[in-house]
Amino acid sequence: MRWTPTTLAAAAGGRLVRAGEREIAAAFIDSRAPRVDALFVPIVAARDGHDFIAAAARGGASASLIGAGRPVPAGAEALTLVEVDDTLAALTALARDARDHIEGPVVAITGSNGKTTTRAFVEAALASALPRVLCTRGNFNNHLGVPLTLVDAPHEPEAAVLELGMSAPGENDHLAGIVRPSVHVITSIALEHLEFMATLDAIAAAEAEPIAHLRPGPGGEAPALVIPADEPALRPHLPEPSAGVRVLRVGPASASELDGPLDVAITQVEVGVRTRARLRLRAGDQLELQLATFGAHNARNAASAVAVAVHLGLPLAPLVDALEAVEPVGDRGRLHELGPHLLIADCYNANPGSMRAALDSLAGLRGQRAGPLLAVLGDMLELGPTEAQLHREVGEHAAALGLDAILGFGPLTRELVEAAREGGVAATQQLAGDDAEVEDALAWVRAQLEAGGGEGGGAVLFKGSRGMRLERVVAGLLRSG
Ligand code: ATP
Ligand code: MG
Repeated sequence: MRWTPTTLAAAAGGRLVRAGEREIAAAFIDSRAPRVDALFVPIVAARDGHDFIAAAARGGASASLIGAGRPVPAGAEALTLVEVDDTLAALTALARDARDHIEGPVVAITGSNGKTTTRAFVEAALASALPRVLCTRGNFNNHLGVPLTLVDAPHEPEAAVLELGMSAPGENDHLAGIVRPSVHVITSIALEHLEFMATLDAIAAAEAEPIAHLRPGPGGEAPALVIPADEPALRPHLPEPSAGVRVLRVGPASASELDGPLDVAITQVEVGVRTRARLRLRAGDQLELQLATFGAHNARNAASAVAVAVHLGLPLAPLVDALEAVEPVGDRGRLHELGPHLLIADCYNANPGSMRAALDSLAGLRGQRAGPLLAVLGDMLELGPTEAQLHREVGEHAAALGLDAILGFGPLTRELVEAAREGGVAATQQLAGDDAEVEDALAWVRAQLEAGGGEGGGAVLFKGSRGMRLERVVAGLLRSG
């Protein structure tokens, strides 16, 4: 987005205090990561961003917002300055303006698990047909990240793919009110953030909030909603047929009997060491894909991207190469080799739904791996009062899958490990998860792999909430070789 001082003030709903000479082609909020020719937005939080306006100017900013009644700081003389009542509200208003200038499709992604990964697949799908696609970077999915993504687009984008994240009802509503998508993808519904939402229904309702903000696509075509076809929790929250939303249903071929035909059917998935995730899709045509990301859940994420492409009428052939080239984002299902063994680093985050998905994919390796299948599982945080029970259920699930060994890493995993042991997992261990215990975890994993016959080649899944930093254990193993 590019603004002049005058259009910037108008779009921000503020008063132009001073017009500088330079263009305003992007935005930022952190003076330590300044952008040249960009707008600095001082956010008032634990620290007051107004203290950093001069630093932002030194870093190359061409403009700054400034809260009403604030003195103009020394060092800001060359900046365009726009006075506003509330800098965050002004950033939000600028984001709405930036959104209004995107003429192509705007895709919003919500869901309990898989948003960032699906964003990467949808980005690849759109980029296979359109040259300038604006996308969420990292996990910039909240009330700051979403508007910043929209505003910080130096090139006029032809399409956008934005991740919306929430931890409480109303947040997706707010974000979708800024984004006003023409396509909404819901990835999955699972228990998460239970301190603010007590039931699966409340979570489904919150993940469905953007539906009310859908608007027609660039050619006037109906807005679209992409959903997992086999998620009954979503049913009460789907739009009425009279709302004119095209609903595209994605899921395993077996789900088609439930609610009518699938738009993208996953007819076959195979997870493996070399194959990672090989899948067959039916989306009108048959598609065969071999993903670089591990796990059957990624078949769904890729299939959702195919549904977006189907809706937009993008050619499907170039899509296959584009989706196959998508690498795991950070530690979300990244594979490492440790001698003959396979390490699956999925340390980015965890809740009961994503834990189950990852354990299922681990179990899917049976038959391909001669050695043992182990899981190093960390605490799942932010689950509220039923956290003990939810950890217990993951342990039961691991046992039902017949995994060979489970290490719990973190105080909450006590119940999980106990349930796994009671369920028949032969080798279990539980540690508090402190730095001091990383060595113990390494020793345990090595011992289990060796006990399993060594050269056979086992597989170890690492998964826990971000705060548990399970990558400490992965890095230790890789270092020691
Ligand atoms: P966050 O809420 O932290 O932004 P997210 O929704 O963006 O998470 P990702 O970062 O893409 O999700 O994936 C996080 C983890 O969720 C992955 O590492 C994987 O274990 C699991 N996951 C990904 N996709 C799915 C899915 N469709 N169903 C269940 N679990 C999934
Ligand atoms: Mg994310």
